[in-house]
Amino acid sequence: MLTVNAYAASSSDAPLEPVTITRRDLGPKDVLIEIKYSGICHSDIHTVRGEWGPIKHPLVVGHEIAGIVAEVGADVSRHAVGDRVGVGCMVNSCRECENCLASEEQYCLNGNTGTYGSVDADGTITQGGYSTHVVVDEDFVLRIPEALDLATAAPLLCAGITTYSPLRHWEAGPGKKVAVVGVGGLGHMAVKLAHAMGAEVTALSRSLSKKDDALRLGADHYFATGDPETFEKLKSSFDLIVNTVSAPIDLGAHLGLLRRNGTMVNVGAPAEPLPLRVFTLFSNRRSFAGSGIGGIRETQEMLDFCAEHGVSPDTELIDASYINEAWKRVLSSDVRYRFVIDAATFA
Ligand SMILES: [Zn+2]
Ligand SMILES: [Zn+2]
Repeated sequence: MLTVNAYAASSSDAPLEPVTITRRDLGPKDVLIEIKYSGICHSDIHTVRGEWGPIKHPLVVGHEIAGIVAEVGADVSRHAVGDRVGVGCMVNSCRECENCLASEEQYCLNGNTGTYGSVDADGTITQGGYSTHVVVDEDFVLRIPEALDLATAAPLLCAGITTYSPLRHWEAGPGKKVAVVGVGGLGHMAVKLAHAMGAEVTALSRSLSKKDDALRLGADHYFATGDPETFEKLKSSFDLIVNTVSAPIDLGAHLGLLRRNGTMVNVGAPAEPLPLRVFTLFSNRRSFAGSGIGGIRETQEMLDFCAEHGVSPDTELIDASYINEAWKRVLSSDVRYRFVIDAATFA
């Protein structure tokens, strides 16, 4: 086993601190990755704090991993030493259910194995990317194209695929009007990706404070949802609304913005149930949907798409010692738009 440096939370309210953890010996299909960069996702914080259910501490989180292959198992064929690779939110799945067979492993009917906090095949709890190294089955390791910078590629593995997948599924593209609710870690990626796909993009945020940013990111229009007139002005106008906000919003008001056959898809995850007047869906035959990350095949497609179209997140590179401060800033939405940890500082 390999002993490596990491940052872990010892309890739900303790600050993260440097620790050492062990990574398993390489199995025949395993890849040892030297992590170069690790993104900070809001889910990391929810998980550590136990807000999404009880977890076992200490836990190393992080599921936006970019690095270099350092060693491969005897039967590895998809990756070689020196390759630029990434790992997202999953490190395994059953591979047998109908969703896995469709390469939609995120919806594995037997539950996929999360990159952190999941029970692994050997019974141990998976430990994530706030670390210098990780061992992952080659089938869950993605290729990072040369055209992508490794540091800014890291957040694509969660924020990128989480927004890419619904945009593709509901066919964002030329002639389609797409609205993105919330301009944060997920929302800024949704704006960039929808724009790169050729859709007409409208950014919706509480106030006008992010207007200049959103237009720079690729939005064609920007409106403040704090202004009730916005909902009159934009009534029945969008084919697709991607809601990236994880706090409760006025569902009825937002659904009213969908044109005929339009869909609003949630990728933000509010903890509380949301009230919904079903009559709102009758008008314009509207749909209200959800979407969770994306499968391995689609994640690779997303990385290749980003390389081809020059799409990358806006990031702030930090040292490991700044993680606790960065988490505070994530909670107060004070980051434009994703923190990335330099893994060389996990000393
Ligand atoms: Zn995430
Ligand atoms: Zn499965």
